[in-house]
Amino acid sequence: MGPEEFRVAGHKLIDWIADYRARIPQLPVQAQVGPGEVAAKLPGRAPEEAEPFARVLADLGDIIVPGVTQVQHPRYFGWFPSNASLASVLGDLATSGIGALGITWQSAPALTEVEEVVVEWLRELTALPESWRGVIQDTASSACLVALLAARERATNYSEARGGLQAERAPLTVYTTEHAHSSIAKAVALAGFGRENLRFADVDPVTYAMDPQALARILAEDAAQGLRPAAVVVNVGTTGTTAVDPLAQIVPLARQYGMWVHVDAAMAGSALLLPEMRWLIDGVDGADSLAWNPHKWLGTVLDCALLYVADPAHLIRVMSTNPSYLRSAVDGEVTQYKDWGIPLGRRFRALKLWFHLRLDGVEAIRARLRRDLEHARWLAEQVSSAPGWRILAPVALQTVVLRHEPSGLVSDAGAVLDADALNAHTLAWADSVNRSGAALVTPALLDGTWSVRVSIGAERTERPDVEALWRLLQQAAADA
Ligand code: PLP
Repeated sequence: MGPEEFRVAGHKLIDWIADYRARIPQLPVQAQVGPGEVAAKLPGRAPEEAEPFARVLADLGDIIVPGVTQVQHPRYFGWFPSNASLASVLGDLATSGIGALGITWQSAPALTEVEEVVVEWLRELTALPESWRGVIQDTASSACLVALLAARERATNYSEARGGLQAERAPLTVYTTEHAHSSIAKAVALAGFGRENLRFADVDPVTYAMDPQALARILAEDAAQGLRPAAVVVNVGTTGTTAVDPLAQIVPLARQYGMWVHVDAAMAGSALLLPEMRWLIDGVDGADSLAWNPHKWLGTVLDCALLYVADPAHLIRVMSTNPSYLRSAVDGEVTQYKDWGIPLGRRFRALKLWFHLRLDGVEAIRARLRRDLEHARWLAEQVSSAPGWRILAPVALQTVVLRHEPSGLVSDAGAVLDADALNAHTLAWADSVNRSGAALVTPALLDGTWSVRVSIGAERTERPDVEALWRLLQQAAADA
């Protein structure tokens, strides 16, 4: 395809995207296909002959759209928001159009320097410490892995340069709570700590936030047994209930044991743009790293995670490579982001953040975040005052965790009397909401019993959408 053919097809694709975005409210929220249905509509072999663009475009509408859960839908309340602002979509197109090779500063100086600038804009906007430096990673999962690799190397004085963890004299341990995202346990495993060495500190039974005294207890026990505490992952906005671990109380304990403190604020990071929400990371000055996802609530299209570190020189020492074919005369003067993470070749991800912030403006983004927090408070008030309904966790952000409790299944004090019947009821009404296509919510286990998470924050969700959802939940629960 040459530039002129691209121009014609590209205009059609932009029109298609604009039309698609405009008609999303009319689409079912949950993908309406079963396993294998999409693949069955595709040929088993790649085409030998070029196909006309019109045919590809038609398949986008006929095969791809029905096979996608519409997370840009105003009535999407599932998992966490995964906003893809159209401003950032333009940036993503520009990234692909430029097709830069991000392997060193020299291979695309603008790729490095726009990233440095945009990441610094966001550091300032989220009031992270001035001395911290950041990098864009694909996801919070990768960011956590990178942070734990850095933690491992600090705890072992660069064991990677010797025999690695296999030559260490005692196991290293990592601490978090059982409410941490599954990516934390995965990072612990992949970084070689071993899942057995991941310790869960108890949480407060009401807030689901880490209990620092419980952490202090297991640290003392582990240290007495000769284990070496290496890192603690502090959850600011857990996936289940958006619980906020008390960072300021965890930092002194981490210092006492020389542990790395990684803050997983994948979802909550966006809220840090609001000065009134900065309490979420009180104590961050004493942490070592923090990651959050503009590709969630902020609205920079997936994938875009920010990782900030207090000591970039340490990270670079852990991650750097220096083969002859990547050397240049400016080494030492410039940032080489290949040494801030795992991949060598990096996309020009900063462009989508740059477009997003420039074309939407921070003020409008802040207003949207405040709107969503207000929607969550409104929904929580409705649920709390409705007989037979219960809010199961504090609403710290934009996610409301709730349950409908028919009489006889739960005591007035909230003790579950018939877990099987309650679980069957919860899963039945949540499933009927989701299958209806009118809205999407996420059932999740909390204290071993099913709850329903309503995660507000799709870019197009307005108050009437939240009101409609609340009516839908009540109807579904009554019919179940
Ligand atoms: N941490 C938390 C608290 C999350 O909720 C998620 C995803 O929802 C992640 C980490 C992983 O994010 P990613 O999909 O960017 O790896």
